[in-house]
Amino acid sequence: MQETIAQILARESAGGQVCARGWLRTARHSKNVSFLELSDGSGFAGLQVVASPELGEYEEVVRHLATGCAVAVEGALVESQGKGQRWELQASRVELVGGVDDDYPLQKKRHTLEFLRSLGHLRGRTNTLGAVLRVRNAASRAIHDFFQERGFIHLHSPIVTLSDAEGAGEMFRVSTLDAASPPRGEDGAVDFSQDFFGSEAHLTVSGQLEAEIAALSHSRVYTFGPTFRSENSNTTRHLAEFWMVEPELAFCDLSQVAELAEEFLKELFSAVLEARPDDFEFFEKRISPGLLDTLAHVVDTPFERMSYDEAIAILERSGQSFEFPVEWGIDLQSEHERYLAEEHVKRPLVVTDYPKDIKAFYMYVNDDGRTVRALDVLVPGVGEIIGGSQREHRHDVLLERIRELGLPEEQYWWYLDLRRYGSVPHAGFGLGFERVIQFMTGMANIRDVIPFPRVPGSAEF
Ligand code: ATP
Ligand code: MN
Repeated sequence: MQETIAQILARESAGGQVCARGWLRTARHSKNVSFLELSDGSGFAGLQVVASPELGEYEEVVRHLATGCAVAVEGALVESQGKGQRWELQASRVELVGGVDDDYPLQKKRHTLEFLRSLGHLRGRTNTLGAVLRVRNAASRAIHDFFQERGFIHLHSPIVTLSDAEGAGEMFRVSTLDAASPPRGEDGAVDFSQDFFGSEAHLTVSGQLEAEIAALSHSRVYTFGPTFRSENSNTTRHLAEFWMVEPELAFCDLSQVAELAEEFLKELFSAVLEARPDDFEFFEKRISPGLLDTLAHVVDTPFERMSYDEAIAILERSGQSFEFPVEWGIDLQSEHERYLAEEHVKRPLVVTDYPKDIKAFYMYVNDDGRTVRALDVLVPGVGEIIGGSQREHRHDVLLERIRELGLPEEQYWWYLDLRRYGSVPHAGFGLGFERVIQFMTGMANIRDVIPFPRVPGSAEF
């Protein structure tokens, strides 16, 4: 395999012939020499190529090169005369692999991120989206490393499911029924028993329930896969398709899983910072000044812990005028979460033991009968990035919750079975992968931290 440009630039010494291929970021031509910046996406920096007149037969090719052209260059790797890079390529052979039409939209000037969203097929070639993709990749690897090193098994949880993990709506239906005239039962309702899966099926909103199944046979598992929510949230923090990381541990309680969440975020940030210093330098300079300090702070300081009760008391005492008024029992809104993390404790914070009525049915009910063993990890700038809980592993309490909430008991038969056959305390959490990438990069809009965003009204690329 040929070296990538990142590998060429990382060489210990100059000298020797190299061959590089990629797309031109810039092409500057003067009378005697052409300067090309070649990028193949492997790192933030491109390779500087100097093409001088003695190129002979290739001179004609070089003269017509423009931004966006795909080229292959061979030549000697020499010490760079210019600033900013150690090596440059003195071209001896230049081949135009693919030319560009004159209307190539990514010319030199900077484009808004919003404009770039309309160019989903090309935006990966820009500095910003290029860096995002590499950071995503590094984070993905770090996540697998973290769990694999601790004996977790990667579970491939299903994408099509019959159950609704949250006990709430907001799901995409999966169906092969004729949308114009589906089969109907006597009551006029659509007869999903004739549908592909013999029942109403959806895209998963979470892999948690399946992760619980696996945790009760393999003890420590994690999922890392796509999840889908049809919530019509046109916000900078919601996607209709996003990736979730969901560890689930048997023989584990809420405080142990809170510790895991903290250790996990710290390791993740330090691993990604170490893997991609070039991209982080860019995010710090161009996207979010102060980012590196913030991330270092997360890595170095212990997370704050507080109960929901305490959080409410702090918000009530804060003297802030929130859009959503604060009282015990409310679901914390983003403004509350951010006040707590940004203003009050000024670092990440784990809030635990939320009111039962605002949390999902599967969470372990505390002895007070009014709170459940839930946790949210809140970080400055973003708010919630992790939501988790200890699961209700007592059969009778769970059944009562399911009935209380009027959930379809028969659909949860296997979930209840797990509480009858060797049930153990278990706990886990879900991390929104794009939310964490947003936090790491300082990118304002979640649509710019996933290569192909799916949001209401848009799924073109
Ligand atoms: P929010 O209140 O922000 O909508 P949620 O309470 O619906 O989040 P959970 O159901 O706990 O979130 O999902 C687990 C994690 O998945 C969240 O902590 C968040 O990081 C992420 N997440 C949830 N919904 C989305 C979404 N629509 N797009 C991207 N990430 C999401
Ligand atoms: Mn939500």
